Amino acid sequence: RTKKESRNGYRFFSNQMQLQSTRHLQLMNAMRQAITLGQMAVYYQPQMDLTTQKIVGVEALLRWKHPQLGYISPAEFIPLAESSGLIITIGSWVLEQAVQQIQQWQAAGIQDIRVSVNLSSIQFRDPGLPALVQEILQRYAVLPQSLELELTEGVALENPQGAVAMMDALAQLGVRLSIDDFGTGYSSLSYLKRFKVYKLKVDQSFVRDISTDDEDKAIVIAIIHLARSLGLKTIAEGVETPEQQAFLLSQGCDEMQGYLLSRPINSEQTTAFLLAHRPGSHL
Ligand code: C2E
Ligand code: MG
Ligand code: MG
Ligand code: MG
Repeated sequence: RTKKESRNGYRFFSNQMQLQSTRHLQLMNAMRQAITLGQMAVYYQPQMDLTTQKIVGVEALLRWKHPQLGYISPAEFIPLAESSGLIITIGSWVLEQAVQQIQQWQAAGIQDIRVSVNLSSIQFRDPGLPALVQEILQRYAVLPQSLELELTEGVALENPQGAVAMMDALAQLGVRLSIDDFGTGYSSLSYLKRFKVYKLKVDQSFVRDISTDDEDKAIVIAIIHLARSLGLKTIAEGVETPEQQAFLLSQGCDEMQGYLLSRPINSEQTTAFLLAHRPGSHL
């Protein structure tokens, strides 16, 4: 490597970094107004009980469409919202949208649908979280059992004592807690014993190659069996094929979620989906 090459290499690298931080700044600025300008929406992805084939819940997934920048993935903007602190405002908004939606569905005769909401570890560390959840549930007269909160393994890692106290406070309200992307974190399994967890979400990276990769298959089986022996429920994420569904059912997984059943859809589409899949409906 000549001196000139390495200098060019450095310049290329710093240009890349600059481009990236320009985009980040652009997104962070745009995000501040995204809710008030009506650019954000909560979509829902249906979840099905594998044994009864009934729709038992939906996961709330945030969507952002900017008029100039187009559709921006939550995988890109959520980390930026976390680093800027804006996730507290956005997260409360998602929570309120979801609970209001439960109220509307119940008023339309759609009962027994659980809505799960993703919580950032930043929200999870906010001491005001349990009071906020309680206040929103009361405002819309929604029972806590209708709401599920999804956490990642990371929250247990950062501050185990604080996490236990927060989980206790949330569980005390009657909301259910699930561990998202289970198996991808680095936490010890002992937290499952201490935390008031209700359900494990088997990460889609293990589900994807379930039919062809023996190791992924072994991991999924181990998670389902671990959950069962601890008295926890399981849901598999990212189910795209009937083969994956059949395998999960054969292993005793409780629920599934994925493109095979439905992509995340907007509020109106979800209402239609839930009405069409209501027990007794023959659409
Ligand atoms: P997640 O909570 O693990 O959500 C599942 C992701 O998998 C969603 O991506 C969903 O659209 C996608 N997915 C579902 N079924 C399939 C499938 O069959 N195949 C494939 N390939 N993908 C599938 P999405 O909506 O882009 O969200 C990405 C992540 O962004 C979420 O992962 C979650 O961590 C985060 N996120 C989304 N909405 C929120 C939110 O309101 N608050 C917070 N804190 N995070 C959110
Ligand atoms: Mg999730
Ligand atoms: Mg997940
Ligand atoms: Mg994820």
